[in-house]
Amino acid sequence: MPIIEDRSQLEILYNVSRQLAASLDLHEVLARVLLLSTGNLAAERASLVVLGSAGKPRDAVILYKGGLSSASRETINAVMRSGLAGWVVRHRQPVILENTRADKRWLARPYEKGVESEPKSALCLPVNARERIVGVLTIVHPQPGYFTEAHLKLQQAIADLAGIAIHNAQLYEDAENNRILYRKLFEGSPDPIFITTLDGKIIDCNRQAALRSGLKRRSLLTSSITSLDPLATNVLARTGAGSKRSKSAIYESTLRIKEHQVLPVEVSTAPVAYRDHDCLQWIFRDISARRDLEALRDNLTAMIYHDLRSPLANIISGLELLSETLPPGSDHSSQQLLQIAGRSSAHMQRLVSSLLDINRLESGEELTRLEPLQLEKLLNESVEIISPLERSKQLVVVKQLPGEVPEIKADEDMIRRVIINLLENAARYSPPHSRVVIGINVLANEIIVFVEDQGTGIPEDARERIFEKYVRLGVDNASRGLGLGLAFCRLAVQAHGGKIWVENVHKSGSRFMFSLPYSTRQEITPEG
Ligand code: ADP
Repeated sequence: MPIIEDRSQLEILYNVSRQLAASLDLHEVLARVLLLSTGNLAAERASLVVLGSAGKPRDAVILYKGGLSSASRETINAVMRSGLAGWVVRHRQPVILENTRADKRWLARPYEKGVESEPKSALCLPVNARERIVGVLTIVHPQPGYFTEAHLKLQQAIADLAGIAIHNAQLYEDAENNRILYRKLFEGSPDPIFITTLDGKIIDCNRQAALRSGLKRRSLLTSSITSLDPLATNVLARTGAGSKRSKSAIYESTLRIKEHQVLPVEVSTAPVAYRDHDCLQWIFRDISARRDLEALRDNLTAMIYHDLRSPLANIISGLELLSETLPPGSDHSSQQLLQIAGRSSAHMQRLVSSLLDINRLESGEELTRLEPLQLEKLLNESVEIISPLERSKQLVVVKQLPGEVPEIKADEDMIRRVIINLLENAARYSPPHSRVVIGINVLANEIIVFVEDQGTGIPEDARERIFEKYVRLGVDNASRGLGLGLAFCRLAVQAHGGKIWVENVHKSGSRFMFSLPYSTRQEITPEG
């Protein structure tokens, strides 16, 4: 702050600081700064532009012929772009203009016509707070050469005080805006929200809270959150060191609603400062739609199991019996028809089994049918199964098998379906006459199975996503599917302790790979 020697000037500064401290309203602070800084100068006009944190003009007040007005956004922008105020902000230094007519930085205002366009003098200085420019103050005097270094010193001292006041007023305005925004979000939220004390007494709630609970706001404000959510006690019980953070939680519970009913909800709790007190915010999200879906899924699984799986198994064994009992040398087309029917029902059976497996594996069920797996045999069988698809597209299927594959224990039917899925996809998403390579790599602790094609490949941003349920890329392509195949593959491979991923191959196409771990540990047998 510049050193002020004059006693009267100190008095001015004292008054300025007292007046500025008396308000937190940004507009009022700006008006006070202008009136105080021009009070003893007989200035013609003065302006104060306030800058936001990004250095952009945020507000402006003009004092002209004793009256206050605000400036249009275009005017402020023009002054900041090419006028004197903009120059001061960019150079971070004050300026005394002896003669406004003789300086390019002085932009004539539209109203400065006739007498008012006479030469004047101006003083323009940055308003700082916490090493940041928060505004720029300009004072215009009708007489050229009016301002001296002493004026500059005093005005800079006023501007420094004003800077802090503007900064505080801005912080207050921001806090107010945030408060209003929070209130709007709070009231407008489609979820019931409650604010409680740390021991659960409800002190505020939104419209939805009253609507959903069927209780008047007034009666909610005399209740405890535990009367609405039986599990709230667990959150409230978490006390002690770091208790504030430990009160953040997300859990599933029920919310007591109208007519003694309960609504399944997901509850998010978080500590909030509410009217200067440490409080808790509780948001209750209705999850009844999700619960209904889960019930539907369970019903569907039961339906698939009982109504599809057993009849399908009967069809398959019936077809097998029929093909065995067909007299040798019987009609060739009957044989073919039986084969097609057999293949189609086996395909349906694989789909049904994978759907069931998705549900089982998602709910964390363990694998129970682990047997020694002959991976090479499985690969050959899988290639054979997709051969009609391979022939229809005239694909060349190449197998790359190593000399020896270590034995692993696995659910054979499940791994077979994983390989068939990958082979079917490779065939489905490949152009006719292209090459599909299927192979095995044996590494130190794991076996890698890969299926490589010359199709479209998988875009990088989708390489994780395609293993999620119902994800399909390029939905406009002709092939139909539910987007469940790869989701099943991932669950099945993970259940075996392995991983599945996809890479793009050199020119075009993709390489799907999955690993199955095996133990290199030799079993130690007692000697003798
Ligand atoms: P579906 O094939 O039934 O749509 P999947 O889960 O098997 O479901 O595959 C998900 C998506 O991944 C497919 O819709 C397809 O867009 C893409 N995809 C899978 N395999 C390949 C492949 N070999 N080449 C190109 N895209 C593939």
